[in-house]
Amino acid sequence: MIYFDYNATAPVMREAREAWLDITEKTGGNPSSMHQAGTRAAHVLAEAREKLAAFLGCHPADIIWTSGATEANNMVTHHFSKTLGATDEIWISAIEHPCVHDSAKYYFGKRAKLIPVTHDGVVDLEWITMEMADKRPGLVGVMAANNETGVIQPWREIHSICQAYEVPFFTDAVQFIGKMPLKGLGEVDYISGAAHKFGGPRGVGFLKIPHRKTVTPLLHGGKQERGFRAGTENVAIIAAMMAALEVREKQISHSQHLLRGVWRDNFERELLRALPGTTILGANVPRLWNTVSALMPEGDRKHQWVIRLDKAGLAVSTGSACTTGKEEPSHVLAAMGIKAEKAVRVVRFSGGWETTEADWDALVKGVAKVHEEMHQGKAHAAA
Ligand code: PLP
Repeated sequence: MIYFDYNATAPVMREAREAWLDITEKTGGNPSSMHQAGTRAAHVLAEAREKLAAFLGCHPADIIWTSGATEANNMVTHHFSKTLGATDEIWISAIEHPCVHDSAKYYFGKRAKLIPVTHDGVVDLEWITMEMADKRPGLVGVMAANNETGVIQPWREIHSICQAYEVPFFTDAVQFIGKMPLKGLGEVDYISGAAHKFGGPRGVGFLKIPHRKTVTPLLHGGKQERGFRAGTENVAIIAAMMAALEVREKQISHSQHLLRGVWRDNFERELLRALPGTTILGANVPRLWNTVSALMPEGDRKHQWVIRLDKAGLAVSTGSACTTGKEEPSHVLAAMGIKAEKAVRVVRFSGGWETTEADWDALVKGVAKVHEEMHQGKAHAAA
C-alpha cells in the first residue's frame, strides 16, 4: 500500500515511537507530583514546551498542551464566546476545518461571519480590508494552510491587518506546521497544532495563546497547564510529538521539502497528460508541497476513486477525513464556487516526507489504470 493521505494523518515516525517508549519506561510519575518521579516528568514537559516555543518563536509559558487541534480550536471559540460582548462578531474563513467552523457557529450563531475565498481557494484579503475599515470583529480566524486543497493562506498579511486594527488573530496551523518553515508564526495571537499531521502520535496537540494572557478553560478540575486545561498531561505522547517536530524542522531547514515539491509538480504534469480534462485546484497560488486536489474528468461518486485506488494499493482521500462518508459536498469546494455535481469528482492526494519519486510515479500509473477501467465500465454500460 502506498500512502497518499498525510493530510488526514501522517505515519508515526520512528523517532516519535522511540521517544514515547523511552519516556513511558523511564518517566512514570505524574508531572504535578512533588517527588522525584513527578519532577522528572515535569522536567520532560518543560523541555518539550521550550522546544516548541523555540520552533514557533514564542514564550514557553504561552503553550497549552491539548488532546489535539479540535480541542485547541474549540478552546479559542469558547474563550471568545465568554469574553466578547453580546453583539460582537467573529470572522472566520469559509474554508476553516469543521472544528473551527462548527464551534464558531455553536457559540456565535449568525455572529460568526464567513470570510469568502477566491476561486483558487485563497482567503479574500480585499474583503477583510474593506470590512475592517467599517467594523471591527472581536476575533479573526484564518487557517495557515487548507487541509483539502493545500492552499497556503495569506496569514502574515491578515495578521498585519489585524494588528493595525488591534483585533486578535487566530490561525489553525495544523497543516502548516511540520511542512513549511515557521518563521513569524509565533507572533500570531492564537495558534493551534496537532502532532499527527507531522509524524507524531494521534490525540495530542497544543494551543499557543498571547503572552501573559489567560484563556477560559473548556475543562475544569486540576490546575494543570496553569489552570487553563485540567487533566494529567500525557507526558510520553507530548515528548513523542516534539521528537517528530524536531525531525521535521531539521529536514525543512535542509530544504528537503523543495525537492519533494518538484516530485509533486511532476506528478501533476503527468496526471494532466494521462487524464486530459483534469483540473488541479489552486494550481495558480502558493500551495503546500505535498498536496494535490484534483477535479477528475471521470467518476460519478467521489468514493469510487478512493475505493478503486485502494484496491490498487493506493490510499487517497476525497477531502478532509472528517467529512468522509458524508454525502454532501465539501464546504471548502463550495466556498471556492465548485458546484456539487463537480465536487464529487474531487480527489485529494497528499504525500509526505516518506513519499518517494517512485511513489508519485506509481500513483499516476495507478490513477491512469483506474481511469481506464471506469471509462470501460461506462462504455459497457452504455452498450
Ligand atoms: N484543523 C485542520 C486544518 C485539520 O486538518 C484537522 C484534522 O483533520 C484538525 C484541525 C483537527 O485536528 P485533530 O485531529 O488533532 O483534532
